Amino acid sequence: MFPTFTLRYSKLPAHFFEPFTPVVVEKPALIAFNQTLAETLGFDLAAFDERQAADWFSGNELPPGAEPVAQAYAGHQFGGFSPRLGDGRAVLLGEVTDRDGHLRDIQLKGAGRTPFSRGGDGRAPLGPVLREYLVSEAMHAMGIPATRALAAVSTGEQVMRRMPEPGAVLTRVASSHIRVGTFQYFGSRHDAEAVKTLADHVIERHYPALAETGEQNRYLALLKAIQQRQAELVARWMGVGFIHGVMNTDNISIAGETIDFGPCAFMERFDPKTVFSSIDTNGRYAYVNQPMILQWNMARLAEAMLPLFDSDEQQAIERATEVVQGFSEQYLEAWLGVMRQKLGLMQEEDGDQELIEALQEAMRAGRADFTLTFRQLGECALGEAGDDALLALFEQDADIRAWLPRWRERLARETAGSDEIAQRMQAVNPLYIPRNHRVEQALNAAAEGDFAPFETLREILAHPFEAQPGREAWTLPASPDEGVFRTFC
Ligand code: AMP
Ligand code: MG
Ligand code: MG
Repeated sequence: MFPTFTLRYSKLPAHFFEPFTPVVVEKPALIAFNQTLAETLGFDLAAFDERQAADWFSGNELPPGAEPVAQAYAGHQFGGFSPRLGDGRAVLLGEVTDRDGHLRDIQLKGAGRTPFSRGGDGRAPLGPVLREYLVSEAMHAMGIPATRALAAVSTGEQVMRRMPEPGAVLTRVASSHIRVGTFQYFGSRHDAEAVKTLADHVIERHYPALAETGEQNRYLALLKAIQQRQAELVARWMGVGFIHGVMNTDNISIAGETIDFGPCAFMERFDPKTVFSSIDTNGRYAYVNQPMILQWNMARLAEAMLPLFDSDEQQAIERATEVVQGFSEQYLEAWLGVMRQKLGLMQEEDGDQELIEALQEAMRAGRADFTLTFRQLGECALGEAGDDALLALFEQDADIRAWLPRWRERLARETAGSDEIAQRMQAVNPLYIPRNHRVEQALNAAAEGDFAPFETLREILAHPFEAQPGREAWTLPASPDEGVFRTFC
């Protein structure tokens, strides 16, 4: 029932990876399986066998044709460069071709100590595996590019963290796991040939249109295209209050997908400085910093790719700098696009940015819930009957009261009618997001062997834009005693 592998990464030069066979676990049991995703990947579900699935998705048995490797990469972690990180506990089984004809990586995360594992135990605790499962699938359901979760297996073994925790393995599916840090791995070794091989692989796999661009400009165009996808991605994050938490260059996908859901979380009350990660003590990866950090990461990518831009180093630097400086404009466009949609604005007007920023200021001043504010604005688009519920979200509502008429005046200049505007808004402003306290409840219950809250949350988050009768409680922010303000990797 496993689809046929179309092996690609393991056919790249030998120093791109280390062959690594997953380490056998004691007692694998399938705890979650993503049927819908499996179908699109070409799994034969009629032949589905749970025992077999547990063996495959724990790494206890290799599916036919797999060539398991741990990928090499480097990365800037919180600004400091590590020349050799690599998959310390992840194993790429190989690629499969999905129903749309796209290659997709199948990777086991938590599959044992690879040659890149340094001090790590190569394992993953159940909690983080289920968090990644929930949040990555929620991102996908919201239409935000993200790696996917195909399966979660418990290992029957304990892993040691702050306390002993049940162990698990996540099967992750990505367009690829190539990162900014993959380029840095070769760039920092001055291995220009490998940088070129990698760039060509990336073009073929993710940016095929660039193959038509002349050799002279192709790689600069690649840098710009990667930056474009990343700018759009971060704009999408900003549009749902998502805080990635660890935007290290090894966690930035070349394909423009959200990857590595460690201490990530969604903001509730709007505060641009929000940080959840327990290890981000200086707030480097705070909500408001994400675009700026992304540009910094793109500069590191440009450095790694430098020899591809021009044979003259000074020329190469100048050309790369121009592209990286263009980020601000790429990002602003992407962000305005996202925010206009959220506010029901189909047309573009000069004053839009100011209008959006004024709303954010009102949300900040009123400590309003990010998600519910935009959702309720969709009701307000229909008329003033929705205003009371909106104002109730604000602790201090003077600013939002002043803002509403400005927005309505602007809406009146749209050609679409209010029904259509409201409908479009509800299709981009989620009602259900993975709220931290709900995620935490689900993980805590799972640690005790009760997977019901995880299942419920998974079901709810699969339809983030639809009101689900009886599930109103899942739309609400944490009460003061439920609040989760710290997350851990
Ligand atoms: P992350 O913070 O998840 O992006 O991981 C950074 C690096 O640490 C990567 O090279 C990971 O493969 C590695 N790593 C994280 N956790 C473990 C672990 N438990 N065992 C081995 N390597 C790990
Ligand atoms: Mg990582
Ligand atoms: Mg991680």
